Amino acid sequence: MDAMEKYADLLIRVGLNLQKGQTLVLASPLECAAFARLLQVKAYQAGAREVVMRWIDEQTDCQRFLMADEAVFDEFPDWSRQFFNGYAEQGAAFLSIAAEDPELLKDVDPKRISRQAKVRSAALGVYRGRLMSNKNVWCVASLPVPAWARKVFPELSESQAMAALWQAIFKAVRVDQPDPVKAWQEHQLALDKQVNYLNGRQFKALRYRNSLGTDLTVNLPDHHIWIGGGDKSPAGYMFVANMPTEEVFTLPRADGVNGRVVSSLPLNYNGKLVERFWFEFKDGQVVDYSAARGKETLTELLGTDPGARRLGEVALVPYDSPISNQRILFYNTLFDENASCHFALGKAYPTCLAGGEDLSADQLQAAGVNDSLIHIDFMVGTADLRIVGLAADGRETELFIGGNFNPGLF
Ligand code: ZN
Ligand code: ZN
Repeated sequence: MDAMEKYADLLIRVGLNLQKGQTLVLASPLECAAFARLLQVKAYQAGAREVVMRWIDEQTDCQRFLMADEAVFDEFPDWSRQFFNGYAEQGAAFLSIAAEDPELLKDVDPKRISRQAKVRSAALGVYRGRLMSNKNVWCVASLPVPAWARKVFPELSESQAMAALWQAIFKAVRVDQPDPVKAWQEHQLALDKQVNYLNGRQFKALRYRNSLGTDLTVNLPDHHIWIGGGDKSPAGYMFVANMPTEEVFTLPRADGVNGRVVSSLPLNYNGKLVERFWFEFKDGQVVDYSAARGKETLTELLGTDPGARRLGEVALVPYDSPISNQRILFYNTLFDENASCHFALGKAYPTCLAGGEDLSADQLQAAGVNDSLIHIDFMVGTADLRIVGLAADGRETELFIGGNFNPGLF
């Protein structure tokens, strides 16, 4: 098997862990058609009932954002709602190839994008709810496309940049190793250790400090659950929703975040870069913020709904990891979030609370679980990040020293 085939195999066997008789909904950019067809074959070989292709053309989408009638951005077509919600309710697996030009939408009115995102999220509530609580198996992975590769490696020619991005992705997803499936099993064991330790400790709060100016305390709800690597499907088998993944994550109390957090990497939101930004939190809510570049994009994002001003995810990622060690800014959340400790603004994963997947929206809110139409990761990890875990009795544990897990812990 060449690297490409190994990668396709890994996504079907480990990412989705596709089962016999299952339908697969596969979303792919047109530019990645050759790889998507390879995935289709691998899925059928694994016993897929049907592979439903959903081709994406970002240029077409961009033209629509620029030229379509104003009213369409507040609509979501019924047929599309039925497509996603219907396949989700039938128990389909969803594989999405995320590969895009990070600057594609830079000339588009951000209000059009956020209005569209809002109606989409609302219309696809069934689909989103099922995927976020692991009732369907799903996986997001990336492939190089020329515009993205040029952005990541501006000093190289297009073909060199494409080759370099392929190599970087193969390294990040461990396809460069002799037996990638085995490498993932070992990686999973390492993440399990972190998760077991953190779940056993049940810290009341985490305190973050570094030389960028981050000084933030994040309260964690009672019975929070740390998750890392694979997730369990309702049928009880493992799948990996993000490939790569280096993080272990849980949820904060929506009303329990205080202090200042400073970004360590730019945020790419709807094709616009926000650089060197910070948020000031009081009782969970962003009360002040700014950015060296792209503040208006932050304003747009925070204005989505009340939950967009609160945190929905706390994720720990060692500074020393296969993605972080490449010292590449990918301009793609799937990679950048796995290179750095991060938070997310917006919706929290209900699965991060014991029994959370069975709670109603009101019960989740009462338990401190944030809800929003958005979930946007931003990076805060640095080589000098210190995180202290605070126990219920006030005892302090050095959890992160110098950007990595305290090696004395496990
Ligand atoms: Zn994350
Ligand atoms: Zn996230």
